Amino acid sequence: MKTENKRTVTHIVKQLLNLSIKEIDHVIGNNHYDYLMDVKEYVELSSTFKSDYWKIVNRVVDNGYVYLKTNEVIRLIRDKIKTEIYKRIKESPVPNIPKNLQYLVGIVKNRPLPRAPLESSQLTTYPPCAMRVIARSEANENLSHFERFFLTAFLLKTGKSVEDVIKFFSTSPDFNEKVARYQVEHIAGLKGGRKAYNVPDCKTLFSQSLCYKDESCNGISHPLQYGKRYVKRGEKSSDRKGHIPKEDF
Ligand code: SF4
Repeated sequence: MKTENKRTVTHIVKQLLNLSIKEIDHVIGNNHYDYLMDVKEYVELSSTFKSDYWKIVNRVVDNGYVYLKTNEVIRLIRDKIKTEIYKRIKESPVPNIPKNLQYLVGIVKNRPLPRAPLESSQLTTYPPCAMRVIARSEANENLSHFERFFLTAFLLKTGKSVEDVIKFFSTSPDFNEKVARYQVEHIAGLKGGRKAYNVPDCKTLFSQSLCYKDESCNGISHPLQYGKRYVKRGEKSSDRKGHIPKEDF
């Protein structure tokens, strides 16, 4: 299975993204490395990452190549894949639609526009747990109550406005603006007890099977500690702890 994963990653990196990468099977100290990546390509791919973990001075570099593990390569190419897929979809020719199916074009055209994507520079500073819930939401999968609560609290704490968060959820299959607005404002501390809710810590997220820890999470115990950018914004002592609102949205 591991070999299969590695083969798939190598294929995507080389064929889809046209990047040079070499498979290796190399142990240095306690670390097992699967790839060598050209240092220029590494710097370009990691340039928007804020965490020190990705800084070139903290990597093993030899002869113009950076040593990487498979999951690190996956993290590095995530945004680039997304961009590449959008580009290919945009460039693909529009097929001729048979007359008897053209009424469907009208239906699709009148559907609400897709939500405004979160900026990729922001996404790269989000921890894997938040990225996972965002990806599920963007794929219109049904989020659990806890996932919605976590994502809402996280987005609010990392600088998104109530309107941004509502807009983000607006294309969910069961979206109800009135209910969503109440819940988001409640979590933001604008309703009810007038205290903002805390973002759950890593332990809580783990207990809810929502932790997707990788090396970039090393040394942190709270998603808001991920990347320097949010450390200073940490939790306020007045925030509610240990509760989530009862109603779903
Ligand atoms: S370790 Fe913490 S920040 Fe990292 S994925 Fe798990 S819950 Fe999220």
